[in-house]
Amino acid sequence: MAGKKIIVSNRLPVTVKESQEGDIEFSPSAGGLATGLSSIYKEEGNLWIGWPGMIDVDKKQEKTITKALHKDNMFPVFLSKQEIKKYYEGYSNGTLWPLFHYFTEFAKFDDEEWQMYVMVNQRFCDAILQNASDDDVIWVHDYQLLLLPGMLRERLPNATIGFFQHIPFPSYEIFRLLPHRVQILQGMIGADLLGFHTYDDMRHFMSSVSRILGYGHSMGNISVGNRLIAVDAFPMGIDYEKFEQSARSRKTHTVLQRYKSLWQDQKLILSIDRLDYTKGIKRRLLALDRFLDAYPDYKGKVSMILLVVPSRDKVGQYQQLKEEIDTLVGNINGKHSRLNWMPIHYFYRSLSFPVLSALYTRSDVALITPNRDGMNLVCKEYVASKVDRKGVLILSEMAGAAKELSEAILINPNDEGQIVEAIKSALEMPLEEQSTRLLDMQQKLKRYNVHKWVDRFMEGLTVIKNRQKELD
Ligand code: UDP
Repeated sequence: MAGKKIIVSNRLPVTVKESQEGDIEFSPSAGGLATGLSSIYKEEGNLWIGWPGMIDVDKKQEKTITKALHKDNMFPVFLSKQEIKKYYEGYSNGTLWPLFHYFTEFAKFDDEEWQMYVMVNQRFCDAILQNASDDDVIWVHDYQLLLLPGMLRERLPNATIGFFQHIPFPSYEIFRLLPHRVQILQGMIGADLLGFHTYDDMRHFMSSVSRILGYGHSMGNISVGNRLIAVDAFPMGIDYEKFEQSARSRKTHTVLQRYKSLWQDQKLILSIDRLDYTKGIKRRLLALDRFLDAYPDYKGKVSMILLVVPSRDKVGQYQQLKEEIDTLVGNINGKHSRLNWMPIHYFYRSLSFPVLSALYTRSDVALITPNRDGMNLVCKEYVASKVDRKGVLILSEMAGAAKELSEAILINPNDEGQIVEAIKSALEMPLEEQSTRLLDMQQKLKRYNVHKWVDRFMEGLTVIKNRQKELD
């Protein structure tokens, strides 16, 4: 592929903040996506375009930030408080997020927010046009920028445009509820290659395209007029080595040593998510309550580490969910605790990487029960951290990761009784079985890590571009 490569996402892989002294500070993101894509955007001449995370920046600050980001191959799109409120908190997280996760009752349909979504997508398009030419490769990420591939296609008809959606794509019956469903699909099909985490997401997308726009599909290809585009499943992997190595590292062992006397012979059940109604946290807690009622011999012997990472606290449903979780944890601890034992250790914050790694390494069970999740990386990180091959993963069928991790104990997140029995089976699973299941999952995750994910997507783009040329 000729030309340079440009990654585009709502957020840049860096957090820019103003210190108390008024200095601008940068901290790079350590997330899996940033690591995977670093092989692309850090290469000479390439670029990552996105919002740097600060709002209402003045002209002088804009200049400083732009200059500093330029050194690291990044280009900022500055957004105002109003834009973030309507495009990001509003249309992206208050309409698309709930609808695409099948929470139809939470999705609001507000025209002003939609108009802002269109405007901000256009702002991203303009920022790309300032930097791109017609022979470049542009890879757009996620649901905040669904209109962008179409906007780019109009201005750069020959560019190679990829789009990856990190959240589920819902079935047609759900998607068609969206008032601007035609515009959204027209935006998406501006891409040459559209990637989803699972085969089901991809099938749902193609079905919506054919029923709403009338374009037929065959073998993962859609003919959009005289342009052929491709749709495929690319399940995102993790930075496997990072978790494996950290599990063996001295830093992690120091953390484990520090808490050893506290945890003693306790069995630990790990629960880690961002605060989100899609993650099934409430039912998970109710299942733990029921488990302790049904199997009281486990009282004093097993505890849950409940880590809830603060998220989207400006959206109403999230504030309410936080209160409900607080109440549930209080009730369950109040009901079952003993003077020397508590069923739930609750943390509402994010933890440092060594502590996170220590928790993955030490926990006997990971209990991951989303109602709906595009992929879920936490479960993959847990498996990768199990270097001693002791541990059991209980995973919701509704997480994209369940398609790959069939050796987990798979549960329906709405079936509380099934979760209760899964907890019991996990705690009682023979070590040999734990090891066999983990080994199978580890082999898959090691092979399909985040670097492989990036390579496969880029190869997919080359393939579709070549096919288009053959058909010309
Ligand atoms: N994570 C984190 N800090 C924490 C706990 C978790 O950065 O204190 C990370 C975790 O390692 C994982 C990510 O947050 O990579 C969550 O990704 P996932 O796909 O599971 O869910 P999402 O939040 O993207 O819906």
